[in-house]
Amino acid sequence: MASQVTFIGAGNMAGAIIGGMIDSGYPRDAITATSPDDSVLAPLRERLGIHTATDNASAVAQADVVVLAVKPQIMQDVCSGMRDAVQARKPLIISVAAGLPADTLEHWLGGELPVVRCMPNTPSLVGAGAAGLYANARVTDDQQRIAGELLEAVGLVEWVDDEALLEAVTAVSGSAPAYFFLMFEAMEQAGADLGLPADTARRLAMQTAYGAARMAMDSDKTPGELKRNVMSPGGTTERAIEHLENAGLRDIMQGAMRACAERAGEMA
Ligand code: NAD
Repeated sequence: MASQVTFIGAGNMAGAIIGGMIDSGYPRDAITATSPDDSVLAPLRERLGIHTATDNASAVAQADVVVLAVKPQIMQDVCSGMRDAVQARKPLIISVAAGLPADTLEHWLGGELPVVRCMPNTPSLVGAGAAGLYANARVTDDQQRIAGELLEAVGLVEWVDDEALLEAVTAVSGSAPAYFFLMFEAMEQAGADLGLPADTARRLAMQTAYGAARMAMDSDKTPGELKRNVMSPGGTTERAIEHLENAGLRDIMQGAMRACAERAGEMA
């Protein structure tokens, strides 16, 4: 029988994961989502056919898995309000909240619990996410499998065995969609400066990124090999890549990602 999964919070991230679970065949009647605001819940009930509740404590009473999907700023209050119900049941806790350590969540929820922390990213909202997951020592193999399957419903899942590595995951995937959006902006501007209509340049740049990612994911060659394959000696691509290397793109990426990981550490 499928695990009973209760989502605390019914916003973007919860909606994306629930949608992905249903698309991959998870039984709707094993899913509950909560929010204090029933107008947020009505579309989920009607569109997805899941259970909903406005009271968190009663919604976790029968749950095998509780997914914490509220904003980090209200997490402590939300956890306090359902502490007794959680301690009576001891479900697997999965948190998608940025920057809240597993032991802080255990503390707010009243004591020892199996906790999986997840660092997702916004492409989860279109089923193409990339998430890093960490399980504390109380998570069983079976619970780890369940957590992986739930998050795989919205994209790629990679486990890390040290919670601090979620800071690196934040730099590599959590914050990284914005690096590519910046690149699209820069390519659109540069394409327009070369005379293309801006929207034509934007579409070409985005499709090229999508194609390059698909090609790299489908290939058994490394990205370096794929890059060399499109660089004929003396050709156009070689000229562009030389410019990017000489301008220090690798150092720029390293600096940006180090700054991102450091900030994630400060927030934990
Ligand atoms: P959101 O604002 O879309 O959703 C938050 C939900 O919480 C809303 O449905 C709201 O009604 C509900 N809520 C408010 N108070 C509540 C309470 N007391 N009890 C139960 N529910 C309550 O936020 P989101 O973008 O879905 O983010 C949720 C979590 O996911 C955050 O912790 C965020 O850090 C994390 N996250 C989100 C993204 C993303 O792409 N959106 C990426 C990484 C991490």
